[in-house]
Amino acid sequence: MSEATKKRGELIVLSGPSGAGKSTVIAELLSSRPDIHFSVSFTTRQPRVGEENGVNYNFVSREEFERMIAADELLEYAEYVGNYYGTSLKVIREQLDRGVDVLLDIEVQGAAKVKEKCPEAVTIFLIPPSVEELSRRLHGRHTDGEDAIAQRLAQAREECRECHRYDYLVVNDTVVSAAHQLQSILEAERCRTPKQLHLVESFLHDQNG
Ligand code: ADP
Ligand code: 5GP
Repeated sequence: MSEATKKRGELIVLSGPSGAGKSTVIAELLSSRPDIHFSVSFTTRQPRVGEENGVNYNFVSREEFERMIAADELLEYAEYVGNYYGTSLKVIREQLDRGVDVLLDIEVQGAAKVKEKCPEAVTIFLIPPSVEELSRRLHGRHTDGEDAIAQRLAQAREECRECHRYDYLVVNDTVVSAAHQLQSILEAERCRTPKQLHLVESFLHDQNG
């Protein structure tokens, strides 16, 4: 295959209110698509019980995060409920160049930055079936106090206002059906004509001279 037609990885952006189930649905998706590279973000927030450095996030100090911003090491970053979150430019670029699909779990400001810089990115917004269910999930996760939950619910309303900017909207009713819808989206995206033109190359040349 020529350099021009060499497959580049797909950049996939998943956003949605905190507690919608992004991490859960991503885990389900990756169990059937282990070839997708999940981008481990950098954050200044404290690890939750069960979270591992380098697996869920790269946990760094505010000073280190600000150094990364100044050194232009981030594809995007945002401040969310008092903490910085950001995506490493180097890792994403390396994976995409190798033809590996990369999945980002990021909030709406960061997603808008990514779409601006990489218009070909596929953006998906995940919502829970209702606000009541979102509140139930945030409480059921047992990771945030009442204040943090109230902040996240308020933030959820703001974030949902931005959903029209996304290519796709998926309701996380059951984890399996939401992950299945994500897989269907990725499959359809892979079949887009501009990404498949190399398949018709041989038809366009007259084989009989
Ligand atoms: P996010 O990554 O969007 O903040 P999580 O994946 O941490 O959300 O999910 C929040 C909580 O909701 C977790 O306790 C998770 O087990 C639960 N959850 C996720 N998806 C579903 C679902 N489809 N039905 C019921 N509970 C869910
Ligand atoms: P949480 O604290 O619940 O893990 O994440 C809070 C929010 O930060 C979520 O909406 C999540 O998608 C978002 N987030 C996680 N990593 C990044 C990142 O690298 N950049 C941006 N902009 N948002 C992120």
